[in-house]
Amino acid sequence: MSDILKVAMPKGRIYKKASKLFREAGLDIPVDVDDTRKLVIEVPEAGMEFIMAKPVDVPTYVEYGVADIGIVGKDVLLEENRDVYELLNLGIAQCRMSVIGLPDWTPGIQQRVATKYPRIASQYFREQGQQVEVIKLNGSIELAPLIGLADRIVDLVETGQTLRENGLVEMTGILDITSRLIANRVSYRMKNGRIQALCDALQQVIPSPNEISAGNLQG
Ligand code: AMP
Repeated sequence: MSDILKVAMPKGRIYKKASKLFREAGLDIPVDVDDTRKLVIEVPEAGMEFIMAKPVDVPTYVEYGVADIGIVGKDVLLEENRDVYELLNLGIAQCRMSVIGLPDWTPGIQQRVATKYPRIASQYFREQGQQVEVIKLNGSIELAPLIGLADRIVDLVETGQTLRENGLVEMTGILDITSRLIANRVSYRMKNGRIQALCDALQQVIPSPNEISAGNLQG
């Protein structure tokens, strides 16, 4: 195995937070890495190669070992249920997964819930003893109750702005979410020194658990 650490990085809103955390941990990641459209980026300064992945695919790349480690939200980790090690709670990209609906929602005969997270949502409603039909969508979940596809949705809430702008309300929080560092099982053994050194460096700069849970979550 080469000494280069292959890192599956989540493209989009979490990437900037992840690269900022890596830099704070002392890794030399040139600024132009943040703006390139390349999907495989060599970062020799940090002894890494970034694989720019759709967040939902990060655990897949790591499970199959084409990436040694990855950064991914706990939401994706629970939903995808891949065979990977979860090494660290990075405390970034805090939000919560919630049940959301129109303000005048009342339980109807046919309850439909739209979500990007059918596994997590189904388990939640089963545990609550609520019979619902879960409908999988891939984005703009907030549309579903507005146009009558579903009574409620299960989605992530960060500031609450998306809900407010669409006249929706957060009904129940299901899970607090943050990003995690994950590792391939074989890589974790074969590149243990490098991965452990990275974990130690990150641990110096990630917020303490108290700060993570208190966080900047707003309704
Ligand atoms: P907000 O308007 O700040 O409450 O953000 C809510 C929207 O952003 C929803 O469409 C969410 O799916 C998405 N979102 C919020 N936080 C995250 C996150 N940490 N990871 C992925 N998507 C998120």
